[in-house]
This record gives sequence, C-alpha cells and structure tokens, in this order.
Amino acid sequence: MIRQETQASGNGILQTALHNFEQAVNRLQLSDEIAGKILGPKERIELTLSPILPNGHVLNLKAFVVRHNDVLGPAKGGIRMTPDVTLDDVTGLAMEMTWKTSVIGVPFGGGKSGIRVDPMSLTPEGKEVVIRAFTRGARRHLGPEIYVPAPDMGTNELDMARIRDCISYSQATSITDGCFVTGKPVILGGVAGRREATGKGVVYTVLALCRKLGMKIEGLRVAVQGFGNVGSVAACEIARNGAKIVAVSDVTGALGAPDGLDPAALAAQVQQTGSVVGFPGTKEVDPAQVLEADCDVLIPAATQSQITEKNADRIAARIIAEGANAPTTPEADGILNRRGVLIIPDILCNAGGVFVSYLEYTQETQREQMTIEEVEGRLATRMTDRFRDVDELTEKNGLTMRDAAMNLAVQRVVDGVLARGLLP
Ligand code: GLU
Repeated sequence: MIRQETQASGNGILQTALHNFEQAVNRLQLSDEIAGKILGPKERIELTLSPILPNGHVLNLKAFVVRHNDVLGPAKGGIRMTPDVTLDDVTGLAMEMTWKTSVIGVPFGGGKSGIRVDPMSLTPEGKEVVIRAFTRGARRHLGPEIYVPAPDMGTNELDMARIRDCISYSQATSITDGCFVTGKPVILGGVAGRREATGKGVVYTVLALCRKLGMKIEGLRVAVQGFGNVGSVAACEIARNGAKIVAVSDVTGALGAPDGLDPAALAAQVQQTGSVVGFPGTKEVDPAQVLEADCDVLIPAATQSQITEKNADRIAARIIAEGANAPTTPEADGILNRRGVLIIPDILCNAGGVFVSYLEYTQETQREQMTIEEVEGRLATRMTDRFRDVDELTEKNGLTMRDAAMNLAVQRVVDGVLARGLLP
C-alpha cells in the first residue's frame, strides 16, 4: 500500500527508507490510517533559485525542502548540497530524520533540504550567494517552530552562519528570535563540540557494542569509508581508544595500512591538500577495497547505497557502524543479517549530530552557554543509553539492531500521533 503511493526515484535513499518503514509497520501491526499518516511526507517543496554569482553568471538551480513529520516537534535535519540530489532523496533523508530524532529522544520531527549544485564548482563567494538565495527562497519554510536546518553533505558551519545572518539581516536585528539553524560557528551562537558530535557518537555506539560482545578495543582493526566530517572524527576517536585504522578512503582515493595509520596526521594532511592520497607509510588501493578490507569494524561514512547486493558477500567486518545515512541497501542488509554481521543502524549510530544540535537549540532558546565538557558528557551518556535501549529490544524480541531501532522510533511517533489525536 505504501509503495503504491510513492514511486521513488533518485539515488536509492527513499527506497531504503520506505523499505525500512514498511517492515516496521508490519512488525508493529499499525493500522493503514496511522501508517499512512506517518508515511507522509507532511510537506515537499521544490524551489527554483536564480542567484547571480560574483562572476556575473546567473545560476538556475533546484532546491528542495521536505518536512516529513513534526508530531514530536519542529522538523530537524541538514541541508545537502550535491549536484545530483533529488526531491525523492531529500524525502528519504527527511524520513530518516524522523526516526533519528525519535530514537535519540529529542523533541524534533524529521526534515531535510537539498540544493542541487556541486559545491566544489563554486568559489567561497559563489557558495555564499547560493546559500543566501536558498535562505530567501526557503524562508517561509524555516523557523524554530517549523523546520531547523543544519549542515549535511556539502554544507558546513560557515554556511549555517550565513543562513542565520541572512535571516537576522532581513529582520534588522542582531540575532534571530530563537534558533533558526544549528551547526553554526561557536562565535555566532553555535555549541562547542557540534562539529565532532556525529563522528564521536558513532564511536560511542561501537564502544558500547564491543563492551557487550566482550571485544577489546585495543588493536581492533577499523576501516573507514569517507574521511570527511564524520569519518575523520570517528577515526581519530576510535584510534584514541586504542583501535587501529587499517583502511581509509575519500572522494579522491583510498589507502591501505595493515599496520595502522595515524588518523590525526592524515586529517592534518587532508586540511592542507584536500586528499588522503599520498599519506606516508600507506599504499594506495582501489576505493572499493576499503569496504571489503580485512577488519573488525567497518564505518561507512561517505554516502548512501554503498553496501549493496554486489559487495555485501565480500564485507569482512564483523561490525558495521553506519556513519552515513542509508549506506546499506535493503538487499545488502538481508545478506549481511544472514551472515551474522552486526549493523549499528544509521538512525542510531549517527544520531550524535542531531543530539548536539538539540543542545544548540536549547542553548540559543535559553540564551545559555554550554561548556564542551557538558556537551561531550551529555552526548556520551545519550548515545550509550539509547544504544542500550535498542540492544535490550534486540535481545528481547530477537530483532536486528536496525529493526529494533525502527520499532522504537516508529512507536514513539505513533504514541505522539495518538496523544495529539488524529484530527484535524
Ligand atoms: N545532517 C545531520 C544528520 O543527517 C544533522 C542533522 C541536524 O543536526 O539537524 O543527522
């Protein structure tokens, strides 16, 4: 019934999100009325932006804003800036955000935006123009009680600063009235530790799973696909706990380092050269090999639909920690489950970012200032507690972690719908 209503196109994210939702609807035996309401999305907006770049060219581009669900609070989720993002991708990602905010227990719903342009093709000034054009175009869909964006693939702290500035500038005020965007620089009301939160959160879930399995972190072999904001921080954090980083890739290439590499030094190189390639003491490998590397833990932290039925059989890791959103297709998920590979699902694994976004939201609302110690302490506790909740359900009902996390997430939204009432 659900599939008939939404014919998904794009890069596989919506198909994966719909599959996971359908499965949860069946397990929870939800009525068609409730399932249909939660399926949504509540609102899908397509915008055409025509910013004038500093070089005088007019760039006509599409942008999307989706509010999937706001039963538990204003829609929350990042802005993706990639050349191939589609409205369906943004819908799938917004749906994932609904489950992510629900499972991590913050009072938000799920939303997402997309701007269809390659950020690498823009100068810094050009990117600012595009971000400001998006902010003006999407203005009536943004707000502390409506939808609160954050960084995602292709956007960063500075872009969030420009969004905030664009809104306060148009209101002729110094600050916005409440939190319109999270992931801002600390100097403009951002919260300390937000940038590192997703990567660190990934590691807290891996540590919790290893503790449960009695696996020592010392010497654990870890492969990381994607060495951006999530992957590089996760690599540094897990190495700090004693693990060895044996393979890494980014968009420019991939490295193998059977004896382990220093991720902090690699991150410093990437800062300078923009690439992982050529790091001393490593050998260049085919990027596909990183997913199949001989390791204990695989962290896919690049993009969607990377682990498919084509390579799932060759994944050597015992644990997959989904740093990216929807990196595993449903077909691959089935193969890996049958093989006994343990997958910490994206909606739990990478929820540290949105959890700390919530801290930023409360900080800005209350004109408070949070210390880095407070942020990091709350992040570690929340990730570990929610991992435990998911794990308990996994054990109790014989579910995979993905299914248990989806059950928890969807059930909380159902409880919210019932508490609000179905009408109007
Ligand atoms: N883009 C991030 C995500 O996919 C963060 C969302 C947020 O903080 O709102 O979880």
